[in-house]
Amino acid sequence: MTAHHRGTPIPDPKPRQSQRLTDNHGRPITYLRLAITDRCNLRCRYCMPTGGVDFVPHAEVLSFEELERLVRLLSALGVSKIRITGGEPFARRGCLPFMRRLRDIATVRSLHVTTNGVETGRHLDELAELGIAGINLSLDTLDRDRFKQITRRDQLQEVLATFKGCIERSLPLKINAVVLEDTTDKEILTLADLSRLHPLSMRFIEKMPFSGENCGRPRTTIPLRERLHALFPAMMPVVGAPSSTARLFAIPGFAGTIGLIEGNSRRFCATCNKIRITPTGMLKTCLYDNGVLDLKGMLRSGANDRDLTEAVQAVVACRYSDGLETEANCTRSIAPTMASIGG
Ligand code: SAM
Ligand code: SF4
Repeated sequence: MTAHHRGTPIPDPKPRQSQRLTDNHGRPITYLRLAITDRCNLRCRYCMPTGGVDFVPHAEVLSFEELERLVRLLSALGVSKIRITGGEPFARRGCLPFMRRLRDIATVRSLHVTTNGVETGRHLDELAELGIAGINLSLDTLDRDRFKQITRRDQLQEVLATFKGCIERSLPLKINAVVLEDTTDKEILTLADLSRLHPLSMRFIEKMPFSGENCGRPRTTIPLRERLHALFPAMMPVVGAPSSTARLFAIPGFAGTIGLIEGNSRRFCATCNKIRITPTGMLKTCLYDNGVLDLKGMLRSGANDRDLTEAVQAVVACRYSDGLETEANCTRSIAPTMASIGG
């Protein structure tokens, strides 16, 4: 039975072994991050440029029908975990009905969402009803002024209400906090306290060079790993899924875990099982590439499922071995933002 399907168990149609997407390094591709919009109701400094954002015109964004077709096709090839992201997914009207349609695809085993929590609170009952397998809530600080400074919006209250609503409904929750150059130890300790009190994973994320305007390396600071070890000397590694981007740690007396996501150090490429689709329908087989297949172009010029499958298989068969190799081979003319990539 699929992880989030309720009612009578039904056998899953399983992709034949030969059809499963596996890259040229033997890594099975089982996870899709689907960015359904580049629009957002926040303007996080590490994600959106100060000088404003040029959102792509609506017609350039894949329709829900196009997105669903791609998910059906990819899940038939073994991509069984789907994460809806953006931009802010709930900023796109129709996000929830779309998620319900994906939930009903038998080969989609787990459906997740990454959200900033501003508008998510009022959808929590529906998310619970559709059997959401995980909510990743982005929350970099618990201080109102600091939140305003980071996101350029005064909406911490809404995000905290979403947090509370997730806890009350026992929804599977992870919190993502980007650690910035000026994030203090006190802020890290305050956020970590959430996982002392609640059975959630509090994940600290290395800032990556995607902000729409700054593609340079972040200022050298103490590696986040060392900082967390110094702040939580009792933390002990927890064995997680091999493809997990987060390294998890248990701390005595904590209900949940602390996580470390070293995106910039690229420590998890060897087991990477992910592909991404951007809001404009570019397939990315690595966060650091420029998009390797124009799915929108193919969809809109009448490609059939076989054409699409073969094209996807072809690009997956020539992935770079890791993000450093990808970056070295992909020069960029335009600085990307996480909102246009799907974080
Ligand atoms: N708007 C939603 C949100 O904020 O959760 C989903 C999209 S957002 C691009 C996904 C994740 O990317 C968020 O957790 C955000 O903190 C992270 N992110 C954005 N820019 C980043 C950067 N430069 N470095 C590291 N993480 C970043
Ligand atoms: Fe919006 Fe998420 Fe980017 Fe913040 S990180 S600006 S919430 S897309």
